[in-house]
Amino acid sequence: MLKEELELKIDQEYFWTDSNVVLGYINNEARRFHVFVANRVQRIRETTDPAQWHYINSDQNPADHASRGLKVSDLIHSNWLTGPKFLWEKDIITPKTTPELLVGDPEIRTTQVLQTKQLARYKTVQPINVEDMRKASIVLIRLAQKDAFKDEMQKLSHGKLPHCHPLFQLDPVLHDGVLRVGGRLMKASLPLDSKHPAILPRDSVVTRLILNYCHEKTQHQGRGQTLNELRANGYWVVGGSKVVANHIKQCVTCRRNRRSTEMQKRAIHIEMLEDLTTDAFINALQCFIAIRGAVNTISDPKGLEPLTPNHLLTMGTSVPLPPPGKFVQEDLYRRKRWRRVQYLTAQFWSRWRKEFLTNITLRQRWHTPRATVKIGDIVIVKEEGVPRNEWKLGRVLDVCEDEDGLVRKTTIQIGNRKLGKEGQRLTNPSILERPIHKLVVLVENN
Ligand SMILES: [Zn+2]
Repeated sequence: MLKEELELKIDQEYFWTDSNVVLGYINNEARRFHVFVANRVQRIRETTDPAQWHYINSDQNPADHASRGLKVSDLIHSNWLTGPKFLWEKDIITPKTTPELLVGDPEIRTTQVLQTKQLARYKTVQPINVEDMRKASIVLIRLAQKDAFKDEMQKLSHGKLPHCHPLFQLDPVLHDGVLRVGGRLMKASLPLDSKHPAILPRDSVVTRLILNYCHEKTQHQGRGQTLNELRANGYWVVGGSKVVANHIKQCVTCRRNRRSTEMQKRAIHIEMLEDLTTDAFINALQCFIAIRGAVNTISDPKGLEPLTPNHLLTMGTSVPLPPPGKFVQEDLYRRKRWRRVQYLTAQFWSRWRKEFLTNITLRQRWHTPRATVKIGDIVIVKEEGVPRNEWKLGRVLDVCEDEDGLVRKTTIQIGNRKLGKEGQRLTNPSILERPIHKLVVLVENN
């Protein structure tokens, strides 16, 4: 600031401080300081060179008067106005000192010392090799097994597991303190890990990490591939099929992939037409292509079936039931508009049911290995030949699993809209048994 305001040409700049400690801070290159000191030292080093800094005795330092205070009578004789004597000499003598930081200075960050110690310790260790990693993984597996199979491992060290034990089928053996699958491959010339995979508990952190590694290694393939990868790496997870399925269900990457395919499969694009002329259609098609991209197939539904958003809402519970009666094609030509509308709505329902609902139930039946229906799910119960809006809503009371762990049959409690004034039931709830392909899950119970 002085330099800017003085407008004088300055050849050389000198700075003095009466603190050797501060000189030490300014000259320091290696150590790091606590924030308060560090910020000030940095500021000083930004605008000046450490070589410009010199030591001055406190009794020669005029700045000292400002901090200590001085009587007016003494001010005249002090160096407050004149500066220290040596400034009046022809040559300014600057004694060369090499200030050192004091050992144990509280402003120096002690972590630096710790880091040096840690580095020194690591230096004596060899670089990590494959054998180290193998040993480390065995230590982790042993830890996970000790947590989950302590009793089993103890029993095995003396003899065998009882027949009724869930692990009995695996014919488990202890090998170097690791619990492994035993069995017929004992003499096969395979590596130990493939012959006798290590048994992992279903719910341990180690299992989860290994599972995650194998699942990612298969690029988020399904259950079969992930299980194969686990076994190829020499691991056997207890209840593996379910554990892997569960892991994939939770896997964020897989979830995102599933969601985006579902969205693509089920998207409905509604384009309004001014009228039913060829021109209007071509306009709408161009608009569609501009938004969605090239069209694969265009099919022409014979017959006029205008689609309004209301049609999509007919499943809503607040929508009143349609008027009673059957509506046939002749109704289209009647003068009573409401009958025409009813016929068209019924048509839409029928096509929606045939084409869209079967599509989603099929998906549930064939494309997802996990149990698709859970206790507490809210479902629509499909019934052939029943008019639209009369398919019943129900709640799943119980599910019956087949041997492969998939749900095939369910017990459903059918909803009843007739309730008393206080919301109480007026009739006994009706309970049905239904196979899952007759159900469409509306709301999943989480
Ligand atoms: Zn995944």
